[in-house]
Amino acid sequence: MTLRNNTHLDPWSVKDIKNYSSLMDEFGIEPIETVLDRIPNPNKYLRRRISFGHVDLGVVLEALEKNEHYVVMSGIKPSGPFHLGSKITAEEIIYFQKLSSKAMVSYCIADYETYADNRMSFDESLKIAVENVADILALGLDPKKAYIYRQSTNKHVLDMALAFTRDVTYNMLEAIYGDKPFGLYMSALIQVGDILLPQTKDFKGPKPVIVPVGADQAPHIRLTRDIARKYQEEYGFILPSAIYHKLVKSLTGTAKMSKREPMGLLTLNDNPEVARKKILEAFTGGRETVSLQRKLGGEPEKCTIYELLMYHFVEDDDKVKTRYEACVSGKNLCGECKAYVAEFVAEYLRHHQKKRLQYIDLARKLLQTKTAT
Ligand code: SF4
Repeated sequence: MTLRNNTHLDPWSVKDIKNYSSLMDEFGIEPIETVLDRIPNPNKYLRRRISFGHVDLGVVLEALEKNEHYVVMSGIKPSGPFHLGSKITAEEIIYFQKLSSKAMVSYCIADYETYADNRMSFDESLKIAVENVADILALGLDPKKAYIYRQSTNKHVLDMALAFTRDVTYNMLEAIYGDKPFGLYMSALIQVGDILLPQTKDFKGPKPVIVPVGADQAPHIRLTRDIARKYQEEYGFILPSAIYHKLVKSLTGTAKMSKREPMGLLTLNDNPEVARKKILEAFTGGRETVSLQRKLGGEPEKCTIYELLMYHFVEDDDKVKTRYEACVSGKNLCGECKAYVAEFVAEYLRHHQKKRLQYIDLARKLLQTKTAT
């Protein structure tokens, strides 16, 4: 889809989204406030508007209110360790899974996309996928209410992508993504198959599906909904809903946190001591001098340290507010603040990594199970 400045939002290499309002206009994303009062016990992402928008979330909420089945569908590209953006998606999945006993999760390991985008072999990406699945299990995903699979071994998904190619032209894909290698177009079509899979006959037919995604994935949701509309008569698809979260800043403060920029990246696999060092060197919203900071206060909105607290590591809203106020009033200085957050994050990582170890065998087993072939 061409944005107003005549560029495409490229889900494979977008660096930053400067204007979320214009993204919402372009992709028909509604503000989350339009449905927030229907979501029970909103999690921190919803309360803090990190999950800022949605498409058709009301369809899923209606199923929740009527105690009917719905599916939470999302996935991960197994090209590297779980970073903080993956953690938001995972926790959104887990949150919507826990909201109802009728909620199932469909979690896709997008190894075809890793093959097309990162030129990684399926064997290589499988090793990473095992780690990724252990991460989401350690974060709290209930495997008994989840279907976890790799694209490359799921014949249903591949068959669906093949079927869609009959009605998708180069012009349609170019209009959404710009001029890309066919491997990436193919991975986008396979992803359409992933999102629509839970509504096929083998998965008990049409039902509401919510897809939690980063804002940079909006073109995939657009393509999926366009294709679902085309095949609505044949399959009875309900157009999938989506919930969008903001992109996570790199610790360098310059762009989106990405596996392609190691120094700005914080992952759940990071050695806690390495993570601590990265945080101590991270970009802050501090002033040039101590006296200026005491006088004017810091700028938490620009600060990656504050983002670590607010987005990722502190559940308690009052604690976040206290840190915010101590920053803008000039009471806190960046050195002390970074040391506090660095220790907090290092402790989180130590705890998470210990827990994740316990799930490695299960993760391996889940990925070896070839259901739905
Ligand atoms: Fe960021 Fe803390 Fe400095 Fe404020 S005091 S700008 S939150 S590091």
